[in-house]
Amino acid sequence: MKKNNYLPKQYSNDSKLKINHNYLKEQFSDYPKILNEMTKIFKDCQFTLGNYVDECEKIFAKRVGAKFAIGVGSGTDAIFLSLKALGIKNGDEIITTPFTYIATIGAIVATGAKPVFVDIKDDCNIDENQIQKKINKKTKAIVPVHWTGRICEMKKIQNIAKKYKIKIVQDACHAIDANYSNKTPVKFGDFACYSMHPLKNLNVWGDAGFVTTQNRQLAKKIFLMRNHGLVNRDFCEVFGYNSRLDSIQALVATYLMRKKLSNITNRRISNAKMYDSLLKNNPNIILNKRDKKIKEVFHLYQIKVKKRNELKRFLIKNNIDAKVHYPIPIHLQKSSKYLGYKKGDFPMAEKISKNILSLPVHEFVTNKQIKYVTDLINKFYN
Ligand SMILES: *Cc1c(COP(=O)(O)O)cnc(C)c1O
Repeated sequence: MKKNNYLPKQYSNDSKLKINHNYLKEQFSDYPKILNEMTKIFKDCQFTLGNYVDECEKIFAKRVGAKFAIGVGSGTDAIFLSLKALGIKNGDEIITTPFTYIATIGAIVATGAKPVFVDIKDDCNIDENQIQKKINKKTKAIVPVHWTGRICEMKKIQNIAKKYKIKIVQDACHAIDANYSNKTPVKFGDFACYSMHPLKNLNVWGDAGFVTTQNRQLAKKIFLMRNHGLVNRDFCEVFGYNSRLDSIQALVATYLMRKKLSNITNRRISNAKMYDSLLKNNPNIILNKRDKKIKEVFHLYQIKVKKRNELKRFLIKNNIDAKVHYPIPIHLQKSSKYLGYKKGDFPMAEKISKNILSLPVHEFVTNKQIKYVTDLINKFYN
């Protein structure tokens, strides 16, 4: 059988460009220090859960202002386990957006529930004003995605959830360090879920994720479910899953939260500001309106542009790793066929998937590089 591993080629193609989206080499250039700290894991052999995970959970909870943070295997698992903890099952309906990473929907489908899409607004977040018309007796939860690390209009979504007695599981995989009027995602719903995949803002050396909640009972369920439902070695309270955070990833995350994450966040924000100021006068480009209440953390810096595909090719030819997140909205993916959607169902998501473009915004992009990228973009339209 031919293995369908497209990643090695993608990694090597991307790394040939000069201004990259992927910055992991620089970010972990101090890996000997991390490896050195890691030796203690090899000495006491607490490879999964254990003290390193406990410590990481404590620091993560504090960082995002949560009462409870539970380390799990991935961001996808975080969403899946949160939905399971709320009792989501076969036949339930879950409202979310078709403009997200595929994992949001995969997690919903894995519970047996049916994803029901609601279109986005021009900032790529779910249109809270279109949610109510999709609610029926089967609707059990809303999964808003804080796209690029910009928090959705959660107050309105909370009001809807309250009115119809449905739950909220936030996909905050882009949103570490983000807030809305100083409130972090965990304050806005039953759960907020994070990913620490290598390409996320808080990124470890493999797959890992976090569930956060303010609710003790729900936290307890996640603690159980991520480790087979075991209360202790011999006693199983409910059948669960294996989605344990391992100590190596926990140690990397702890290191980053202590030493680097604030800089990562701040640099992304200041880079985005610089892009904004250098692109705002170009009539071919639409920028997101910024809102002082929202602390956006720019997991991606996205612009909407005319002649997107040509511009992308032009930038790549000039050694800039411009990317499209994502060219196909999920309701039009082959995997969604059984849901019965068609072209035209979500006009905004479809339009944005054709004109959106992501520019490198990570902490190692220099001001000089941003100037170079924006000069090129402005030149392209002249
Ligand atoms: C990355 C991501 C996920 C999934 O996280 P993994 O850790 O890769 O499982 C879910 N939703 C969004 C929006 C993401 O970007």
